[in-house]
Amino acid sequence: PRATGGLLPWPRRVMVLLNPRSGTGCALQLFHSQVQPMLAEAAIEFTPFVTERPNHARELVRDKDLSQWDAVVVLAGDGLLHEVVNGLMERPDWEAAIKKPLCTLPGGSGNALAASINHYAGNTRATQEELLTNCTYLLCKGLYAPMDLVSLSTASGKRLFSFLSFGWGFISDVDIASEKYRRLGNARFTLGTFQKLAVLQVYKGRLSYLPVEMSLFPPSNGLPIHILPQPGSSLEDPLLVPFDQPVPKHWTVVPEEEFILIFAIYQSQLGADFIMAPSAKLHDSSMHLFYLKAGISRLALLRLFLAMDKGTHLDMNCPHLHYVPVRAFRLEPFTSTGLMTVDGEPLPCEPVQGQVHDQLCLCSAA
Ligand code: ADP
Ligand code: MG
Repeated sequence: PRATGGLLPWPRRVMVLLNPRSGTGCALQLFHSQVQPMLAEAAIEFTPFVTERPNHARELVRDKDLSQWDAVVVLAGDGLLHEVVNGLMERPDWEAAIKKPLCTLPGGSGNALAASINHYAGNTRATQEELLTNCTYLLCKGLYAPMDLVSLSTASGKRLFSFLSFGWGFISDVDIASEKYRRLGNARFTLGTFQKLAVLQVYKGRLSYLPVEMSLFPPSNGLPIHILPQPGSSLEDPLLVPFDQPVPKHWTVVPEEEFILIFAIYQSQLGADFIMAPSAKLHDSSMHLFYLKAGISRLALLRLFLAMDKGTHLDMNCPHLHYVPVRAFRLEPFTSTGLMTVDGEPLPCEPVQGQVHDQLCLCSAA
């Protein structure tokens, strides 16, 4: 962590993106009652933008002259920050734009990054308004830290950037199915979990990954060539090979092909009371890959999810649950069952691969 007095300007003017449809629909009210007084105290000016439709935030950060602001603040859920990251990466000047400090203020029903940043800061688990105050405090202090981003590519040619998670199966289905209960706030996920437990589905596909350990000692041959990005061109993924080629030999191909869930998370918390990857950091050069093999009983699955409240699910030694930190992965579904999710947002089911990009962006954090 470092104060912005050194390399970055102290935030004087910030762009604030507000989603009136986030969570319980209180983002604007929270901004006026909680955030604005703290910004005034810190002498930070702001330009508010209330999003009018999906992708509005993405277009704003893609098209605006960002030099007028020292940081981009998102008071919403993880979904709006996902738009912001992708809007920045779509700019012709993405290399500079993605270094614009980002600040996530919890205003949605899913605020996983805010909860993670609160956890990394050493704070105790915080409820909504307390979490908002903690995150706004980091912004007012001008504290930033580098954050890894994951680049995802699909077989149909989509390119996405992600700061939180990629998933298929149980957790993704809960996320999508509980969208309609957004007004319940965080409780939407508990309700959704019980609903989906009743009708467990199996997802068939091939999962491959590059373990972090293997990427530290790669074989001397057979590795893709590292290509430096040309100015103006998009970011290269040196660890990935095209879908029509098998994954490199030093990758692991999972022998099982029937799953209840596959989930790669790059932050510690998936929700306010959902510690999925206890050891994850804002930048640790890894995706924390979990997969759950088919055949687990509903009771065992329920026990795992209850243990995630404290992050003790890995101590249960569940034979169906696998966990491995990875640098890259490929998932080739055999059927297009369900939707995949990226940062909690839906993605049609198709082959996807991705890799970590170390410290690609900057984020308000202690
Ligand atoms: P939540 O955590 O409650 O899901 P998010 O901030 O993640 O809240 O936003 C959810 C979705 O709302 C995002 O996919 C975003 O594109 C969309 N969105 C943004 N502005 C609007 C709007 N004015 N009306 C409807 N949807 C919007
Ligand atoms: Mg969301």
